[in-house]
Amino acid sequence: MRGRDAKHIPLALLASLFGGGKGSHALDEATWQAVMGLPLFDGLDAAERKRLHELATQLLADKAFSGAGGIEVDDGMATAIAAFAALPVLNIGYEGYEGWREIVVYPGEFIYEGEHMDEDGIVHHVRDVRSGEAMQGGPMVLSWEDVEHSGQGEGFNVVIHEFAHKLDMMNGDANGRPPLHTGMIPEDWARDFQAAYDDLCRRVDINGATVIDPYATESPAEFFAVLSEYFFEVPDLLQQAYPAVYEQLVRFYRQNPRARLH
Ligand SMILES: [Zn+2]
Repeated sequence: MRGRDAKHIPLALLASLFGGGKGSHALDEATWQAVMGLPLFDGLDAAERKRLHELATQLLADKAFSGAGGIEVDDGMATAIAAFAALPVLNIGYEGYEGWREIVVYPGEFIYEGEHMDEDGIVHHVRDVRSGEAMQGGPMVLSWEDVEHSGQGEGFNVVIHEFAHKLDMMNGDANGRPPLHTGMIPEDWARDFQAAYDDLCRRVDINGATVIDPYATESPAEFFAVLSEYFFEVPDLLQQAYPAVYEQLVRFYRQNPRARLH
């Protein structure tokens, strides 16, 4: 199982990596066309693709990409990341991605070493392998190898995962409860997500086979981020496993990937 990421990370590790922003990258049209051919984007109509292109262009202008661990980010890589990132906000607008700037790209999974304060206020030293990282008000880190495995319709998308954390952080710490739209009922969201979370935790605890990556049981924040990956990449699977959560995500993202993929 992949150590997908974490979100409760001090900045000390990353501060040394930002030797000056590299500025924005341009959208590479050849890469764009190639990425649009991935299963993730099946079923989008012309108007949606145009809007996706606009959102990706906006993201490229807004974020500064930098490579770490010996990798250089070119326009094509930035374009692929922007394309994946644009999909969740296709119908809810770019605002949820504002307020921070840096996207750091590693060649592959990276080792995170730092400190983490638990719910009881106890600080733990942690050292583990990540494929992505999203910090409150701060940078995002992505493993390029994991970006390359995203979009295949197989339930894995590190970019959507990390950007889902950013949406979750719009109203404070990542806790699996992003700001909901008018008309959405917070109690219903909490009820449906809690029931699904408890169910998955129970299945993992009894070592049962789970269709959802057990990493989702790390916390409600991870549950929301992992299920967002499933929502876009394998919507049928999520809808069958947790239909109430699927419907909440339809309302939150204001799109229905399952409908467009059929
Ligand atoms: Zn995560």
